[in-house]
Amino acid sequence: MSAPRLEIDLDKLHHNARTLVERLGARGITVTGVTKATMGSPGIAYTLFSAGVNMLGDSRIENIETMRRAGAAATLSLIRSPMLSQVERVARYADISFNSELEVMHRLSLAAQKERRRHGVVVMVELGDLREGIMPGDLQQSVRELLQMPNLVLKGIGANLACRSGVTPDDRNMAELSALADAIEAKFALRLEIVSGGNSANLAWALGCRDVGRVNNLRLGEALLLGCEPLHRQPIAGLHTDAITLVAEVIESKCKPSQPWGELGQTAFGQRVAPVTDRGLISQAILAIGEQDTDPRGLQAPAGIEVLGASSDHLVVDTGQCRQPVGSEIRFQPNYSAMVRAMTSPFVEKVMVERGERRCEKRADAR
Ligand SMILES: *Cc1c(COP(=O)(O)O)cnc(C)c1O
Repeated sequence: MSAPRLEIDLDKLHHNARTLVERLGARGITVTGVTKATMGSPGIAYTLFSAGVNMLGDSRIENIETMRRAGAAATLSLIRSPMLSQVERVARYADISFNSELEVMHRLSLAAQKERRRHGVVVMVELGDLREGIMPGDLQQSVRELLQMPNLVLKGIGANLACRSGVTPDDRNMAELSALADAIEAKFALRLEIVSGGNSANLAWALGCRDVGRVNNLRLGEALLLGCEPLHRQPIAGLHTDAITLVAEVIESKCKPSQPWGELGQTAFGQRVAPVTDRGLISQAILAIGEQDTDPRGLQAPAGIEVLGASSDHLVVDTGQCRQPVGSEIRFQPNYSAMVRAMTSPFVEKVMVERGERRCEKRADAR
């Protein structure tokens, strides 16, 4: 197999998705599987869908188009506000989009008319993280105007926390979202199908709170793919944290001093190297992968191996007691940042691993 590559274990991914779909389902919450970190990979999208997510969400229309062309049976939602320059594509390929600007909604309505489709809208509300969303005090007026737009259907409201400022989902901000949903339904005599509470950072709240209120949907990416929650980056009990592995190949292996010599300026990426303590000679290996393909600081190496540094296309590691011969491979667990970059690099092959037991299990289910 060629390197570098991401090995994506679809059975583990299926397990992660099925487990969270069941746990949240017991609390009346559906899961939107977020595919943006995978560039809308149809294999991953299908795995999430077959594990029971009720919708697929992506922030980029290109990925939604990829999944649509692959014949995705799921409802596809664009979870970032559409660009004005892309409203036609959004109306054509997405069933639903998340919105916070009336101007965009107007243009979406016109585009939907041209497509002869009705386009669903989830209106995003700002709850304190200061990323997307209409300020709560302006929500009713925006909804009033949205309801005048002939080709749009108000599907629900949503919020996103933790991403920009790290604001933690809690009883207070989630109760505010529920209250806003109630108020809109009462004011406009309608029913909101979706009250989407947030992303993987909402899991602890959703599974641990006393009352989820009106929240009936979460949009999950990281928790499904990496089995960990993004607030404290702790593994989630019962999930696989190794569904996705990054494999790179050794291209140089030598005994070298641990300290550089000569006068030190900036490195290729502008930092200065922090002074290293002299550990004498070490077993240093270079892997053919770099900043262009991944986030080297987000790679967890196997026991006994330590990432020392990286440039565009070289990753330097200390291989400790065991020398790694040229041509050998080292396997890393990527964090979210390292995974997203590897998924996006055309130099990193994506290999789907599936053992097949699940396929039998599915056939048994069908009977
Ligand atoms: C990326 C994103 C998500 C998914 O976030 P995870 O932390 O990966 O679960 C959910 N909602 C929105 C709006 C997003 O942009």
